[in-house]
Amino acid sequence: MPGSRQRPLLVVANRLPVSRGPEGWRASAGGLVTAMRPVMDRVGGAWVGWDDDPEGVPSRVDDFACDLHPVRLSDEEVAGFYHGFANRTVWPLFHDLVAEPVIDRAWWRCYQEVNHRFTQATVEAAGQQEQTPLIWVHDYHLMLAPRMLRTELPDAPIGFFLHVPFPPPELLGRLPWRDEVLQGLLAADAVGFHTVRYRDNFVRSVQQTFHGVNALGDRLVLPDGRQVRAVAHPISIDAQEFAELARSEETQRELEEISEQFAGRRVFLGVDRLDYTKGIRHRLQSIELLLERNPELRSEFAFVQVAVPSRDDVEEYRDLRTQVETEVGRINGRFTEPGHDVPVHYLYRGVSREKLAAYYRLADVMCVTPLKDGMNLVAKEFVTVQAATGGDGVLLLSEFAGTALEFGTDVVRCNPFDVEGMSLLMEATLGLDPADRRARIRRMAEAVREADVFRWVEEELDAVERSHLLP
Ligand code: UDP
Repeated sequence: MPGSRQRPLLVVANRLPVSRGPEGWRASAGGLVTAMRPVMDRVGGAWVGWDDDPEGVPSRVDDFACDLHPVRLSDEEVAGFYHGFANRTVWPLFHDLVAEPVIDRAWWRCYQEVNHRFTQATVEAAGQQEQTPLIWVHDYHLMLAPRMLRTELPDAPIGFFLHVPFPPPELLGRLPWRDEVLQGLLAADAVGFHTVRYRDNFVRSVQQTFHGVNALGDRLVLPDGRQVRAVAHPISIDAQEFAELARSEETQRELEEISEQFAGRRVFLGVDRLDYTKGIRHRLQSIELLLERNPELRSEFAFVQVAVPSRDDVEEYRDLRTQVETEVGRINGRFTEPGHDVPVHYLYRGVSREKLAAYYRLADVMCVTPLKDGMNLVAKEFVTVQAATGGDGVLLLSEFAGTALEFGTDVVRCNPFDVEGMSLLMEATLGLDPADRRARIRRMAEAVREADVFRWVEEELDAVERSHLLP
C-alpha cells in the first residue's frame, strides 16, 4: 500500500541530492530530489553519491532530511568511470548509437572499481540504519551495484531504476561486457524503466543472453528459480508545483519582459541540455528550411533555444557546441533583415525557474525533438505550465522521446531525422485551430497530473517490496 512503507530508504545515485549555493548547502532542484523528499521525511534514510565538491559535502544538510554518504573519486576514477565508460560508452550505446560508443577496457575496469566503491559506502550506510533498509540504485552509472550489494546484503530489498533508454539486444550486443551488466541488474528485486519498450528490450536481452529464463507478465523467472520484476514506470514532475510556478508573480513579471521583446511574433522554443541526443542541430536545420520557404515569416517569427551547458569536458560535446553555434550564425546571417531582430535567439546558459516558466508560457510551439531521449521532462513541464494559465501552445514531439508513448495523438509527432518533414510540420502547427490546441494541452496536463513524480516513486518502491516477497 502506498504510504504504509516503514523501512528506511537508502538511495544510491551518481549525484548527491544537495548543492552549494550562495547561501550554503541546499537540496538540489532536480526531479529525483523533489520526489524523494516526502518519502525521506516519512521513513528516513540515507543517500550515497559522488562527492565532487573541492571542500567535501557535509554528512547532513538542514534542508533535506537524510544522511549523506559522499564517495570521493580520484581524477583517474572520474576520467575512466564518469567521462569514459558512463558518458562515452554507455550513454551513446543506450541512445541508439546517435554517437559512436568508445570501447575501452581500462574504462571498464574503472567502472567496476567505482561500482565497488559505491557498494562499500552503501553497505556502511546500511549498517547504520535501525532495520534493514530498502536500497534503491539509480541509473547507468551503477548497473553493477545491485549484484555487488546482493552478495553483501542478501536480505535487503534492492531496486534499480534506469533513467535512460534501454537498447534492443542487437545494440546491447556491441558491449563486450553485456553479460556482466545484465547480471548486475538481475540481482535487484525489481528493475524499473520509463517505458514498456525499454522494459521489453531488457527482457529480450536477458532471454537471448541466458538460457532458461521465463517471462511471466512482468516477472522474470531465472534458471535458479529466483524471480525478478521488470517494470515500466515513467518518471514525471511535481505537477502542482509547476502549475503554481506558472501563475506566480515572479513568472508573470518575467513574462511581461519577454512578451515585450517578442511582441507580434510567433515564438518557437527549444529547452535542452546541449547534448547530441537532443537533436538541436536537426531542429535548427528545420527552422532554416521553414524560413527559406516562407519569406514572410522572417520578421514575424522567433526561435528561442535555451541550451544548458553540459559535459563540456568531453570532446563530442565541445564539437557539438561549435556546430550548433555555426548553424545559429548561418541562419541569422541568412535571414536577419537590417533594422530587425534576429530570428534565432540562442542562450548558452541555464535560466531561472521563473524565466523558464515564462518562456513556456510565451511559446506558441514547443519543440521537443530529441533523436533519442529516455523520457523528457521539458515536455511535461511545458504542458503543465500552459494548461495552468489557459494556454493553447502546441507540443511538437519526437517519436523517439519516452514521453511520446504517454501523450498519444495530442502532440504533433515528428521524426527528427527527417529535417524537411519536421519543417513542414512546424509550418502546419501555425494553422491549427486554437480551441483544439487548448483542449489538447488540457488533456496532456491532466495525464501529467495523474501520473506525477510522487506516483512514480510509490509505484517503483511498491514493485521492489512486492518482488522481495517472491521466491
Ligand atoms: N532545466 C533547468 N535549467 C534550465 C533549463 C531546464 O534546470 O535552464 C531543467 C528542466 O526544467 C528539466 C530538466 O532541466 O526539468 C531537463 O530534464 P529532461 O528530462 O528534459 O532532460 P535531461 O537533461 O534530463 O536529459
